[in-house]
Amino acid sequence: MTFASLGLCEPILKGVRDVGYTEPTDIQAHAIPKILQGLDLIGLGQTGSGKTAAFGLPILHRLTGGEPGLRGLIVVPTRELCVQVAENLRLYAAYSGLKVCTAFGGVDMSIQESAFKRGCDVLVACPGRLIDHLERRNLTLAKVQVVVLDESDRMLDMGFMPQIRRIFVRLPQERQNLMFSATMPKEVESLVGDFLPNAERVQIGSRSQAPATIHHRFVAVSVVDKHDLLERLLVNEHGKVLIFVNKKIGCEKLGNILKRSGLPADSIHGDKGAEQRHMVLQAFSRGKTRILIATDVAARGIDVDDIDLVVNHDFPLALEDYIHRSGRTGRAGRQGRAISLVAPSERHLYEAVRRHLKGEAPGDGGPPPRPAARGRGRSSGTALRGGSSRGRRPRSGGASRSMLAAS
Ligand code: AMP
Repeated sequence: MTFASLGLCEPILKGVRDVGYTEPTDIQAHAIPKILQGLDLIGLGQTGSGKTAAFGLPILHRLTGGEPGLRGLIVVPTRELCVQVAENLRLYAAYSGLKVCTAFGGVDMSIQESAFKRGCDVLVACPGRLIDHLERRNLTLAKVQVVVLDESDRMLDMGFMPQIRRIFVRLPQERQNLMFSATMPKEVESLVGDFLPNAERVQIGSRSQAPATIHHRFVAVSVVDKHDLLERLLVNEHGKVLIFVNKKIGCEKLGNILKRSGLPADSIHGDKGAEQRHMVLQAFSRGKTRILIATDVAARGIDVDDIDLVVNHDFPLALEDYIHRSGRTGRAGRQGRAISLVAPSERHLYEAVRRHLKGEAPGDGGPPPRPAARGRGRSSGTALRGGSSRGRRPRSGGASRSMLAAS
């Protein structure tokens, strides 16, 4: 299958060629023809499935050659995702004459306002900042023909549902509605019932499934030994590693600890300013900082394809978060690995994830890497059931460890 066979017009196809996509991903092949027909659609796509182009390309096709003005609105939960979606759309739209703008918090509103005045056909926006612009009459949604809610489940988690509803009531009655989500919690279903009740559903894989290209591994470790074990894991890693923690404060602290140990690490979380977050992301994307510690919200929009390893320093509190986190690796068909450090108090969360992954993890049943304990008698890790990979030998002797098995 080719992008041309999906019915996209030449200016958009040219943009796609420049980006280097040769054939559509599953979600693109299923969603693009339906969006081109003008249907409302709910896309349940795996993380990294190519959903930005799945909605972006047909929207740009539909708007190409029309009367200029704000006609396409894409609402996203985070600044990072806002910037990344807009960057992708600008590439796809390079030959269409369409202008793509952004609206996200943490930067001067007047800069965004000036950009709107220069022309804005498609706006990628975070809910709060979009409402600010609407209230100041910097923008009107009166001519919007198509609206996208991207990462709807995350918007729910971040408490954006009231803002989403306020935005929707300002949209014209006649419009196309698209919604993308990795999972479909009941609050999101209720939004669907209110705003796109007749939408077609496009589902790739199961509803809550990490890509099959990810190898999952779980290591039992006490809370106090986590840092030690993590450092030992990282010493053997030479690619990009994304480490998740549950709290902002832990994020900053862990970043500093790893930096002090001489590792090329940095951290990203909500307390860092937009500019600082942007710089951290750029350094990670370019491989200058190979190790990035992040909270779920900050990491949500990271669009870096070559992450080799995701580490859950803190075990995620919900299954969906586990899927989102591990989905940062193994993107666009690549192989990836996810390692979770599981403290006794996190064991119940791990059990839920393991049950979910059972039968999905492509492990080969071999022994997982055994990070060496630092001092005598210090226990540093036990592999839990859930995945495995070919083991590395411990660098030094230490306390004996047992592993929890692979699923
Ligand atoms: P997304 O799920 O939109 O974040 O996309 C994940 C990654 O896949 C991004 O880096 C895209 O640039 C890339 N991608 C999207 N569609 C394709 C395609 N058809 N061929 C190759 N890469 C793609």
